[in-house]
Amino acid sequence: MPSIKENLKQVTAQLPEGVQLIAVSKFHPVEALQEAYDAGQRLFGENRAQELIAKAPQLPKDIRWHFIGHLQKNKVRAIMPYVSVIQSVDSVELLKLIEKEAARIDRTVDVLLQLHVAQEETKSGFSVDEVMEAGEAGELTCYPHINVCGVMAMASLTDDMEQVAREFDLVRRTYVMLKDGPFDESEHFNHLSMGMSDDWPVAVKYGATLVRIGTAIFGAREY
Ligand SMILES: *Cc1c(COP(=O)(O)O)cnc(C)c1O
Repeated sequence: MPSIKENLKQVTAQLPEGVQLIAVSKFHPVEALQEAYDAGQRLFGENRAQELIAKAPQLPKDIRWHFIGHLQKNKVRAIMPYVSVIQSVDSVELLKLIEKEAARIDRTVDVLLQLHVAQEETKSGFSVDEVMEAGEAGELTCYPHINVCGVMAMASLTDDMEQVAREFDLVRRTYVMLKDGPFDESEHFNHLSMGMSDDWPVAVKYGATLVRIGTAIFGAREY
């Protein structure tokens, strides 16, 4: 079996310039993360607050942690000292709470707006209509301690790559509408986070600037 280091090398060699890799390390032990770190990886993604809080203090301080899971309101305060980007903001209410908690410890936090474009109801995120309405109402751009840096989405879990492509295309078009609309004066709104182990080449084709890859780097997760 190839090592984590070899997997990382293989994936990064295929990424076009300007596309950053988030190594999704959920359910993997800190030793695996350290191995990736030693191979040069600095961006890591976790999807559960408890796991992030447990792992972060055991690993080097220059890791940039991306939170990519559904964030419960009562966990915002706990992750705030560690997280560098919250990719999974799925409501205006959550934005308001993140603003409050970032202000409380006097920091600024980067976030992405999660869009729901997949067929599965279980996935969270703004619908395209919701995010555009919130943007027009000024509810996405009024937070002094938040930089809204773009959008994040997951495609449907399917082998049908045409379906996946349609969904990523919708994400990209929504990103452009937001960028040309409510965020037209933002210097931060530049990122499209989409693509996982099975669909990242499609995501890159549709303009992803961040890909979130777990299994192809760390192997299968044991839940
Ligand atoms: C787990 C997860 C990933 C990585 O999935 P893989 O298929 O293991 O690459 C990416 N994004 C999110 C939001 C995830 O929860």
